[in-house]
Amino acid sequence: LDDPDVVAFGRADVAALLPLPDRESDKYRRGVVGVMAGSHRYTGAAVLAVGGALRAGAGLVKFAGQREPVDQVRVHWPEALITELGGGVSVHDVGRVNSWVIGPGMGVGDDSLEIAREVLAADVPALVDADGLTLAAREPSLLRREAPTVITPHVGEMARLLGVPREHIEAARLEHARLAAERFGVTVLLKGSTTVVAEEGRPTLVNTTGTPFLATGGTGDVLAGLGGTLLAAGLSCYDAASCAAYLHGLAGRVASAGAPLVAGDLLTSLPEVFASIG
Ligand code: AMP
Ligand code: MG
Repeated sequence: LDDPDVVAFGRADVAALLPLPDRESDKYRRGVVGVMAGSHRYTGAAVLAVGGALRAGAGLVKFAGQREPVDQVRVHWPEALITELGGGVSVHDVGRVNSWVIGPGMGVGDDSLEIAREVLAADVPALVDADGLTLAAREPSLLRREAPTVITPHVGEMARLLGVPREHIEAARLEHARLAAERFGVTVLLKGSTTVVAEEGRPTLVNTTGTPFLATGGTGDVLAGLGGTLLAAGLSCYDAASCAAYLHGLAGRVASAGAPLVAGDLLTSLPEVFASIG
């Protein structure tokens, strides 16, 4: 890469940024992550995003969602605190969180839009992914927040957000990541064979720790949870996005070791990845 505004990002950078618990830590200080994900149709996205948040070292993960994802998260993650939305129960009933992750599999209907408005009105850092970005393409004011915001589009989601054909983005990924960062005033993590992290006023980062085996359903949901935990731990959007991309890519390498992986394998690999950094 010849672009002078692109910097490399490696193990030492991540090691310097990753928060480790110490004697003074308690679960609230480590960070409480709110996760709003999943829908009647997509329950797995919720399970994977909560898993990513937990395996990244969240002090507490509070999940909010509809009945079906709630049932699945309950079964898979007894560690999570759960709020079933609907019937008079809203996002406000989740209580205090240090960051929000919103979007994976949440649906793009009017109910989902209303929930996204409520979540993104909260004055805490947020990571917006997947359907959350499709909703933001429809209502860009969702991303105009006072609090720090990370968006994690793949090329298709980026194309919708910027209203340009995906081929344009594929042909100039760095430029479009920067353009979106500027236009929406957010930190952009653009996914793909390499991952680009762009923020206005900061050098653009390119992460190459991944593997093509990551190109399978659900891996992005794990990344969203992972990034949300790093935000809750107090990392800036730029640092959280860069570290999440690095760790997620490495988890993919460890999980695949040359063979197909499934998204859940990333959760199994994350402890080894964290141990190798710390
Ligand atoms: P999503 O598109 O939300 O399912 O997320 C897919 C994840 O897999 C992202 O973290 C991508 O960066 C990663 N990924 C997809 N394709 C590739 C590839 N060809 N090489 C490396 N990583 C990839
Ligand atoms: Mg995705």
